[in-house]
Amino acid sequence: MPTYGKVTSATITELKKIVGPEHVVWGESIPSQYAYDAGTKKEGLRYPEILVFPGSAQAVAAILKMANNHLIPVTPRGGGSGLAGGAVPLNGGIVLDLRRMNKIVHIDPEARYMVVEPAVRTIDIQQAANQQGLLYAGDPCSSDDCVIAGNIATNAGGNRAIKYGVTGDQVYELEVVTPQGEIVTLGGRLKKNSTGYGLVKLIAGSEGTLGIITQVTIKLQKLAPLLPNFLAVFPSLTSAISLVGALLEDTVIDPISIELIDRQTVLDLERYCQEKIFDDYTGDCLIIQFEAYTQDGLQKKWDELQKKCNIYGCHRVYAVDGEKIWPARRAWGKAIEVDHPVGVSEDIVVPVDQIASFVGQLEALIREFHFQFRMAGHAGDGNMHIRIVPGEVPVDEWPAAVKKFREKLYTVTYDLGGRLSGEHGIGLKRKEILRGIINPVELALMQAIKKAFDPNYILNPGKIFDMTSPAINNTDTVGLR
Ligand SMILES: Cc1cc2nc3c(=O)[nH]c(=O)nc-3n(C[C@H](O)[C@H](O)[C@H](O)COP(=O)(O)OP(=O)(O)OC[C@H]3O[C@@H](n4cnc5c(N)ncnc54)[C@H](O)[C@@H]3O)c2cc1C
Repeated sequence: MPTYGKVTSATITELKKIVGPEHVVWGESIPSQYAYDAGTKKEGLRYPEILVFPGSAQAVAAILKMANNHLIPVTPRGGGSGLAGGAVPLNGGIVLDLRRMNKIVHIDPEARYMVVEPAVRTIDIQQAANQQGLLYAGDPCSSDDCVIAGNIATNAGGNRAIKYGVTGDQVYELEVVTPQGEIVTLGGRLKKNSTGYGLVKLIAGSEGTLGIITQVTIKLQKLAPLLPNFLAVFPSLTSAISLVGALLEDTVIDPISIELIDRQTVLDLERYCQEKIFDDYTGDCLIIQFEAYTQDGLQKKWDELQKKCNIYGCHRVYAVDGEKIWPARRAWGKAIEVDHPVGVSEDIVVPVDQIASFVGQLEALIREFHFQFRMAGHAGDGNMHIRIVPGEVPVDEWPAAVKKFREKLYTVTYDLGGRLSGEHGIGLKRKEILRGIINPVELALMQAIKKAFDPNYILNPGKIFDMTSPAINNTDTVGLR
C-alpha cells in the first residue's frame, strides 16, 4: 500500500490562496456525502482530508501542481452518482468538487456543437440542446444527478447508445489538466482526426485517473419531432431477446432505444412509483423508442414494428406514454434496492448476438444457486443490469454462495466474449474482480499508461487497478479526520 503525503496546515493555507478561503472545507466540516458515491454508500465511509471547490482550469492546475509536489492524492468528483466508487477518496487527500464550473459556455446550432464546463448536469445539456431544436444524445438514466465530466470519465452509456454511441462518442474536444498541473486541449471539432494517438477516447472511461476534465466540446444531433415509445410484452425473456437483433437490423424502424425489463421488475417498478404504468403484467418487456419526422413515417415504422413483434412471438405491443415509462425505467436501481436491500448488482456486457445465450446461462445459474434476479438491460447494446438477490438462500450463507456464483457468472460472461462492465466502470468496487480476470499484458499496458500520465500516482489512486508509489509521509497534520 503506497504511503502518500498528508494534508498539512501549510497545504490548507496554499489551497485557500489558490481558490479563496470560502472554497475550502476540511476535517469534521466535510459533509458525509463526500465519503461515498451512489454505489458505495453501504460499504463504509471514506472521507477526504480536504474538500476544494476550484472555479477555473488555472485553479485546478495550481492545485494539482501543489498536490504532485507533496504527493497528496486527488480525487475528482462530479455528481457522485457513480456506481463503482470512482469518486470515493480511498486514500484521503483532496477531493476536487468542480461544481462552481457549471456554465454552458457556447451553443452553435448551425455547426451543431456545445461548449460546456465540467459540472453542467447532463439533463441541463439535454434541455439546452432541445431548446435549440437539437439533441444531445448522451442519456444515462441518472441524467438528473450526474454531470458531463463524470459521464466522460465513466464513458457513460444509457438509453440511446444503440444509435448514437456512448458518451465518449459525443465528444469533439476536451480541456484536461494533467496530474502534473499542465492544461492541455485534446481532440478537435473535426469529423475525423488521425493526428497521433486518440487521447480523447483514452480519457473517456479513465475514471478520473489520468487527468481532470475542465471543459468539453460536445456534438449535437438533429432532433426528430416525433419520439414515440412502445412496450412489447413477451412470454419469456428468451423470446423478448430474440426480437432485439431483428430490430437492430431493421432499417425501417431504426430504433434509438431497446430496453429490457423482466416481468418481476414490472411489478417492483409500479410498487415503487406508486403509479399505474404498465397495462399488461403478464410478461417480460421491451421498451422500444424510435424517431420519426412525419406522421406517415411514424405509421410506416409502427406497422413494421407490429409485423416484427408478431413474427417473434410477442403477445402484445402498444404505445406508451414516455413521461411515465422513462421515469419508471430510470427508477430501476432505486426501486429494486428498496425491495431487495440484500443483493449484488452487475453491469455485464456481452456481444449483442450472445445476449440470449448469456440470459439462458444466467437463468440456469440462478436456479442452481436458488437465488432470484431482477433485470433491466440496455438490451440493444448487450449491457445487462442485473440485481442478484438471495431468494431462498439464508442470509448467513449468502456471502459465500454469491462469491461462488459470481465466479461462474464471470466465466460465462468472458467465454461469450463479454466484459465486467458495460458502462458503470471498475472504480473500486470491481477492482479485485478485474485483477483476477484481466489478461496480464492488458493490465500492464494500462499501468504503463497510468505511469506516463501520472508518474507519482496522485490522481484517483486505487481505482481500476493498484499501482505502487514512492513513499512519503508528512507528519505535520492539523485538525483532519
Ligand atoms: C439511478 C442511476 C441510474 C444510472 N444510470 C446509468 C446509465 O443509464 N448509464 C450509465 O452509464 N451510468 C448510469 N449510472 C451511473 C452514473 O450515473 C454514471 O456513471 C455517471 O456517468 C457518473 O457521473 P457523475 O457526474 O455522478 O460522476 P461521479 O460519480 O462524481 O464520478 C464518476 C467518475 O468520474 C470521475 N470524475 C468526475 N469528475 C471528473 C472530472 N472533472 N475529471 C475527471 N474525472 C472526473 C470520478 O473521479 C469518478 O471516477 C446510474 C446511476 C444511478 C444512481
